[in-house]
Amino acid sequence: DMTQHFIVIGNPIAHSKSPSIHHAFAQQAGLAIRYARQYCPDDAESFRAVVDAFFNGGGIGANVTVPFKQIAYEYCLEDGALSDHARVAGAVNTLAQRDGKLYGDNTDGQGLVNDMQHQGWILKDKTVAIIGAGGAARGTILPLIQAGIKSLTLANRTVSKAETLVKALGEQSATVAHCPIDTCATDALTGHFDIIINATSIGLSGERLPLSEHLTCAHAYDMMYGRELPFLTHFADSGAKTSDGYGMLIGQAALSFALWTGADIDVTAARAQLT
Ligand code: NDP
Repeated sequence: DMTQHFIVIGNPIAHSKSPSIHHAFAQQAGLAIRYARQYCPDDAESFRAVVDAFFNGGGIGANVTVPFKQIAYEYCLEDGALSDHARVAGAVNTLAQRDGKLYGDNTDGQGLVNDMQHQGWILKDKTVAIIGAGGAARGTILPLIQAGIKSLTLANRTVSKAETLVKALGEQSATVAHCPIDTCATDALTGHFDIIINATSIGLSGERLPLSEHLTCAHAYDMMYGRELPFLTHFADSGAKTSDGYGMLIGQAALSFALWTGADIDVTAARAQLT
């Protein structure tokens, strides 16, 4: 049996779209796979047991989602190896085995960058603002800087969290240290940016971000998807191009799939098949 086995580990996990996305990729690549949702109790010991059992049983690759991305990072840091993106993100969304050891990567940020570029958004020499300083924002910073942005402004409700994050990333990565990065409170973010990214979890609560009326952009990206996104409506009203985060979801999945199988996925075709 040539079937390759994959899982996505999360809690909750019942609604994960990853199995259907990866099965679409496998169909496109002509590979026989099984990709399953894997529930795990919310503690590090259980997570490690699930990962060990999966790879010992011949599993090829695992995705990691809420709330285990940091726990997966710790596991790879102690007992395996990490990609640069995972190291700077402080989080792992993709696990594989290399030379019999656990290997952790993070494809979320590059998935976002690829999605923007697929849509024709130019990143080189552009001014970018990210709202949010949690895991999703953190994972996006290095890939954006590697794509050649001119400057970054990191806005967050809790400004100290943004400041701490920028300091930590600057110490970890010479690439990050070379990009000018400002921090401010979300409601103090003003002026014009080429691209503004919503990397907060506010959409889950139905609340709206307190945005300045003096804040404008050419492109607005919301990492959320599958619901009404007032953040995008706000900027679309003044003529900005907008995108939700569904392409980022497909993009990060395609990068994970490529890491595991070597297959180069046409994400546009996969997306058309999925919707
Ligand atoms: P975290 O919990 O790590 O961070 C949440 C961030 O949102 C913090 O910056 C927090 O600010 C801010 N925030 C939360 N509530 C509010 C509020 N009421 N007002 C203002 N700011 C608020 O979450 P993640 O970074 O892991 O995820 C963020 C979002 O990105 C999620 O919605 C997730 O679904 C999405 N995402 C999408 C992906 C995709 O593929 N499309 C991939 C990964 C994530 P503070 O620091 O002040 O608390």
